Amino acid sequence: MDKKRILTGDRPTGKLHIGHYFGSLQNRVKLQNEHETFIEVADVQALTDNFANPEKVKNNVKEIIMDQLAVGIDPNKSTIFLQSMVPEIAELTVFYSNLVTIARLERNPTVKTEIAQKREIFGESVTYGFLGYPVSQAADITAFDATIIPVGEDQLPLIEQCREIVRKFNSIYGENLKEPEAYLGENKRIKGLDGNEKMGKSLGNAIYLADSEEEIAKKVMSAVTDPARIKKDDPGNPNVCMVAYYHNLFSKGEVETVCEECKAGKRGCVACKKQLIKNIVEHLAPIQERRRYYEERPEEVKEILMEGTKKARKEAEVTMKKVKQAMKLDYFE
Ligand code: SF4
Repeated sequence: MDKKRILTGDRPTGKLHIGHYFGSLQNRVKLQNEHETFIEVADVQALTDNFANPEKVKNNVKEIIMDQLAVGIDPNKSTIFLQSMVPEIAELTVFYSNLVTIARLERNPTVKTEIAQKREIFGESVTYGFLGYPVSQAADITAFDATIIPVGEDQLPLIEQCREIVRKFNSIYGENLKEPEAYLGENKRIKGLDGNEKMGKSLGNAIYLADSEEEIAKKVMSAVTDPARIKKDDPGNPNVCMVAYYHNLFSKGEVETVCEECKAGKRGCVACKKQLIKNIVEHLAPIQERRRYYEERPEEVKEILMEGTKKARKEAEVTMKKVKQAMKLDYFE
């Protein structure tokens, strides 16, 4: 496979959880061996719906980076950078905002869904910044000439919006930007402990990569099981049980027995949950060990971010020069 450039990233609004791990991080670790990977810590984007809570964004930057490193992102292979320290991205966002209409942004299905979910923040009228975040994402992608963007199905409209902006730019100012492709890969959405289709911090149904054994135990003990099962020897239905669902992720080689015994009424829910707790703790142990290494070395984490940001900025400066020349903004050259 040809080595291409990938852009991916996370909003620093909370620590990463097992939904992120199975949904994208595992894939990211694999892809860094195949392609040139840029990982953005999207603090500017996080502010679009956390503008009144900058402390939260600031405090989570370090947490997100430590989670990345803990799961196996290698700073020698991947470039981890901070969005706000690459001002060219903000500059590109301004230029691209002329190439997209308000109506088109309002029609974007991803944005539409998110605005509906964030009524408590925006009320009846969404901010200019939030409505325009797909434009800023187009700037993130094109600033680094990235052509592969790992996303979930629900984010495909954002990539399409970026492609439209690139085409419009190239048709007006000449062929300068590359159209990115969405990479669906093995991205999968992991359900929450409560059975909700999505695991999320705001939903309170997540197990974090950094959770202690006690926290994991407490959460698993409260996970939704088959509600029709009253006594230990009642036949259960693992298909409606979140414990069985997580056994499928963490208990390879044991999950078939779990389901058979559950269906046959030969397995108690408490014992079943304890087995899952043990397997999750074992699975997360090496990740947490690496995380502790970085927690004890904040200077090393800072250095990784500074080096990555320096490299990312150099790339963005090249794009900026090209874009300004194309837009006749190169007055003193
Ligand atoms: Fe779920 Fe296990 Fe109880 Fe079956 S025995 S309902 S799989 S917790």
